[in-house]
Amino acid sequence: MEMMKCVIKETAGEGGIVLAERPVPETGDFDILIRVKATAICGTDVHIKHWAEYAQKRIKPPTIMGHEYVGEVVKTGKNVTSVKVGDIVNSDSHLVCGTCDLCLNGHNNVCYNTLTIGVTRDGSFAEYISIPEKAAVLCDPKMPIEQLALMEPLGVAVHCAMEFPVAAKKVVVCGCGPIGCMGVAVARILGAAQIIAIEINEKRAQMALDMGADSVVNPAKENVVEKVRELSGGLGADVVLDFSGNAGAVAAALEYVKPEGCISAAGVGQGPLNLPYEYFITKGVTLKGIAGREIPRTWERMKGLFAAGLDISPVITHILPLEEYEKGLDLMEKGQCGKVILKP
Ligand SMILES: [Zn+2]
Ligand SMILES: [Zn+2]
Repeated sequence: MEMMKCVIKETAGEGGIVLAERPVPETGDFDILIRVKATAICGTDVHIKHWAEYAQKRIKPPTIMGHEYVGEVVKTGKNVTSVKVGDIVNSDSHLVCGTCDLCLNGHNNVCYNTLTIGVTRDGSFAEYISIPEKAAVLCDPKMPIEQLALMEPLGVAVHCAMEFPVAAKKVVVCGCGPIGCMGVAVARILGAAQIIAIEINEKRAQMALDMGADSVVNPAKENVVEKVRELSGGLGADVVLDFSGNAGAVAAALEYVKPEGCISAAGVGQGPLNLPYEYFITKGVTLKGIAGREIPRTWERMKGLFAAGLDISPVITHILPLEEYEKGLDLMEKGQCGKVILKP
């Protein structure tokens, strides 16, 4: 049996993440085998390490971690027709059923029967990953491999930023971790007139400016509602993209957003949202939750944006060999980095 190195969540509870040897996954008749060329660490992986409630509910260790990746096809099942050996591919982290009413009505981003790579099934912190042919997304082989590995989180930014039109609009991007910063870059290339970022962490604030924000408001030092109104010429923002998952930040957005404005919320928050109900109704605000990525719509949009010149390389701050996954998880936990890429 051919073996491969991989990073697994070996046991339930805190920690328990080890570098291991496992058999190369089997490739069914409708599957493809991918040699992973780059895979990125997500905040979710830090939650898995600490056995947060999210992980407790979903993971049955041992599980190979990792859900953001790209690689080269090295083997195809006998019924595979759309992908060939040598193709550069990645996929959504959500493997959807394609048969439930949500999938059939174009909402596969919230499919009831979703399997999540690196969570409910084996993932990409490995030399090889096997996925169904129908999940594979063909990539432009001329694109830098590190950016292709980030299409899954980029997809959240693109889904969020394209939910409402931002061209020629005043846009606030709230929460500028890696996905928020990608949201800034996407809003810029889509033609936003003005981008105001909201971020406490100074490194992340600088990254938001590097990726095209016009200004950054620090909510620890400034009154966000007043500052956004001032920066936007007194009237407030047309569109708010929230990546913070902070209930207070979304409540503030309802205040500084313009009447008939839109809030697209992708940051996963905890606990109740205390909504200033009056503003919400009397201003006619639209608040939309953004779950995952639409398949294939969001992926096609990402390819289109790359072709139009979207560059997300500034969010990549570290490239490490797979063996240094612990260092990568530490960097992510301390928040003193952008995206960390692992190379198996
Ligand atoms: Zn992720
Ligand atoms: Zn489904």
